[in-house]
Amino acid sequence: MDLSAAERIVIAGAGQAAAQAVQSLRQGGYAGALTIIGDEPALPYQRPPLSKAYMKGEFEEERLYFRPSAWYEDNKVEILLGTRATRIDRAAQILHLEHGGELPYDALILATGSRPRKLACSGADAANVHDLRTLADVERLRPQMVSGRRIVIIGAGYIGLEAAAVARQMGLDVTVLEMAPRVLARVTSEVISDFYTREHTAQGVKILTGTAVSHLETGNGAATAAILADGTRLEADIILAGIGILPNEELAKEAGIACSNGILTDRDARTSDPRIFAAGDCAARPLVHYGRTGRLESVHNAIEQGKLAAAAILGQPRPAEDCPWFWSDQYDLKLQIAGLSTDHDEVVVRGDPAARKFAAFYLKNGVLIAVDAVNSPPEFLASKKLIMAGARVPAHLLADTSTPMKDIAALAAA
Ligand code: FAD
Repeated sequence: MDLSAAERIVIAGAGQAAAQAVQSLRQGGYAGALTIIGDEPALPYQRPPLSKAYMKGEFEEERLYFRPSAWYEDNKVEILLGTRATRIDRAAQILHLEHGGELPYDALILATGSRPRKLACSGADAANVHDLRTLADVERLRPQMVSGRRIVIIGAGYIGLEAAAVARQMGLDVTVLEMAPRVLARVTSEVISDFYTREHTAQGVKILTGTAVSHLETGNGAATAAILADGTRLEADIILAGIGILPNEELAKEAGIACSNGILTDRDARTSDPRIFAAGDCAARPLVHYGRTGRLESVHNAIEQGKLAAAAILGQPRPAEDCPWFWSDQYDLKLQIAGLSTDHDEVVVRGDPAARKFAAFYLKNGVLIAVDAVNSPPEFLASKKLIMAGARVPAHLLADTSTPMKDIAALAAA
């Protein structure tokens, strides 16, 4: 469907993907009405610092925002904050808002992100049980993060481990609980899991794996201890849950748009309704370098899909699709991840984990599909090129630190 004559574009959700989409639409020459609806009270902001420098108090709030409010005025972007989109009437092309508002659209972008999976055990509704998704979550959590207090973090994914690093640096007594047999089990290999377990342990974090929380003990409305399935009792002043996220796909689902763990899109971020697009954490998209569909939870993905949606609406050529990438900061360790390691059949380590500078490469049938690079930017950058080229890379070359990464990257052109 040609939408290049669209005069009213509406974006539901006011986060990373929305911020990119408005910018790309205006840069791409769109001069019509542009409205963003966000249910949080804040202007669109970046989330990564929430579990890193901002949580620690080393990042000013101003820097979280993608743009100051004047930018939206100057660019004639109407932004409705603290307002929830509740229903899409596809036949009438109207987005309904809570409290009875409605917005007609020629094209609609769903950029509703995701929400934390909630702890389901008893005691989980106590006042000192926290999630870590929004600025408001950090505002609630941070005043409680006082040196000497005990924090139990449930879930050893990236957010749980980043929060553990910050809490430790702030002098808290930190325990991390993980149901899987190792930390980061869902997203990486044993070599990386083992490395991060050692690093956190050396910093004084207690990590308990293969263990589930049975319930939280409470007193005066606050959680006082986490009780594990085997009866172990861990006293706590703060509980933080980082047990994964769920896509905010309900608006689309209830409107009859195809969803399957995310709002299904094509390569142009278009959903099963040709006037409706989806971008970011809420969307499940073709992963062109992997020949399958998947939902990604990253800044790069939200930005890329925001650009794809804008280009498709404006009838402009599809921007190039990069391989997926992500990062995580813990202590002085910068982990950079390119590609998706699921389905690998070989792991090759380059460098020495003990030197805190190494990379784990993931191969499938001899083709490089992903890398986890710790304090190793050249390994990350070269791998992105090789992954996008679908290059076969001999394992012995990857492991050989005397062969510079730029020479290995040349295989991308071979
Ligand atoms: P969001 O940025 O979540 O924005 C969606 C917005 O839509 C939210 O404000 C939501 O409340 C709103 N909304 C939902 N439903 C409605 C509705 N019906 N009506 C109106 N508004 C609605 N990624 C990385 O690549 N690297 C990192 O280091 C990293 N660190 C992270 C640390 C934390 C603590 C978190 C929470 C995320 C981190 N991420 C990181 C992930 C990254 O921030 C997300 O993938 C990205 O924000 C997704 O952008 P989005 O626009 O899809 O969703």
